[in-house]
Amino acid sequence: MAHKKKNNNIAKAILMDDTELEYVITDNPPRGGMKYTYFTPDKKYAVQFFNKAEDAESAQMQARLENIVGLYNPTISQDEGGAMGNTSETAAYFSRLFCWPVALIKEPEFGVVCPTYPQNFFFGKDAVKPGVNLDMDGKDKKSKWFTSRSSRWLAEKEKGNFQTMLRLSISLARAIRRMHAAGLSHSDLSSNNVLIDPKTGSCVVIDIDSLVVPGVFPPEVAGTKGYIAPEVLETMEFDFDDPKRKLPCAATDLFALPVLLYEYLLHRHPLDGPKVYSTVSTEEDEYLQYGPKATFIENPQDTSNRPDDLEVTIHDLGPYLEKLFLQAFVDGLHDPDKRPTASQWERALGKTWDLLQPCKNPHCRAQWFVLYDLHNPVCPYCGQGLDSRDVMHLRLKKPMRGRKGQWQQVGEINLYDRMPLFNWHFIANVYPDEKMQNRSMQAYISHQGSEWYLVNNALAGMLSPKGNLVPVGQAVWLKDGEIFPSSNNPEALLLEVVRG
Ligand SMILES: [Zn+2]
Repeated sequence: MAHKKKNNNIAKAILMDDTELEYVITDNPPRGGMKYTYFTPDKKYAVQFFNKAEDAESAQMQARLENIVGLYNPTISQDEGGAMGNTSETAAYFSRLFCWPVALIKEPEFGVVCPTYPQNFFFGKDAVKPGVNLDMDGKDKKSKWFTSRSSRWLAEKEKGNFQTMLRLSISLARAIRRMHAAGLSHSDLSSNNVLIDPKTGSCVVIDIDSLVVPGVFPPEVAGTKGYIAPEVLETMEFDFDDPKRKLPCAATDLFALPVLLYEYLLHRHPLDGPKVYSTVSTEEDEYLQYGPKATFIENPQDTSNRPDDLEVTIHDLGPYLEKLFLQAFVDGLHDPDKRPTASQWERALGKTWDLLQPCKNPHCRAQWFVLYDLHNPVCPYCGQGLDSRDVMHLRLKKPMRGRKGQWQQVGEINLYDRMPLFNWHFIANVYPDEKMQNRSMQAYISHQGSEWYLVNNALAGMLSPKGNLVPVGQAVWLKDGEIFPSSNNPEALLLEVVRG
């Protein structure tokens, strides 16, 4: 059916619930592999139609989208027709991490309504370095811009730093964990389908309409080079319904997710090394590189694909991430069942966040690094060392149930001056995820000379090492070796002070 225009090229779509939505017809609408896009007059929503009538009319496609918009939608609360167990708070949280379709169109033809990406995911006029002749204005911030060689064109302020890249990595792992918890998988997770804003440390997962939905035949997605799991690439020659063909699923997302994380944190691709796999043809070489012979560039046993100029490695990302990257790209590269889950990534990234340390070198490109060896506090990006009196560490321990006086270590944090501390640093079983209610700063660290202080900002019942109440605005001195409960809350964590 034709898109009938009224005045000013405004057309009207009728949604499945019979409400009307106006959109603006343009001559050359932006066109992707599957769909083309118009916008509502206020630009708040994208109104998308399919390039091919057969896709629009496909019963599988329609069933998939109905499920995505309703039953499995983590960006709408259960009360409003979204995913089960979703509250309005968690819905609001996830609506920032996904660009999730909000409605389906029945007239003039089958289509999808999505929120438009927030403005910070578009480059502005001054996105490139002065003198670079590249028009980026209005382009969306696909991850590749920041993790490939193109990043050298970008203005410094666009690139963020190691801390903001780690922040958006946590958000991405959390988004994928949420999808997988619902039984969904992305099918084409790639640098094209995740927009990142390193400036603010945020990301958004887009192109949700080809998600793999339980009980609905998976979409036929070609995938994106470098992000297709090796087993999917290897079996592409089989027919789509041949049982030998490996189709996108959670395990294939769990290949793409660490590829993206590795790119964000180390600015290179985990399989792009010097190794030549075939001299027959480029296609053959690439097929082997990303498929049956794929070799992690940092594989500790097989160094055949290792570049000789690796300055910063997974080891520099600290023990939690090093372990998971080895699990993903050595043990799990050709064995999907061994890949870490999104939830494991989320936890490891969070623990790594607590080990961050600001670099003292004002010219350091990373500005932050993971301080994993207290006896050798050196920034791996610029070589700047840290004075031992600037190294301080807290171990967080929680009481073991049913065993009075016994404690289990649940975290460790590196301290730095003016470091903010939150509820999850003081109360057992509180995590900085979507369920976290109180996100306000409870206390902060003050570093003066060689001494360290914990200043109470809002922590109720905060205790000193001697067990005295510490009112808001007052501080306690953190002395090496001291162990004390952080507050009189029965779930309070125990703090152990450790100097480097
Ligand atoms: Zn540095």
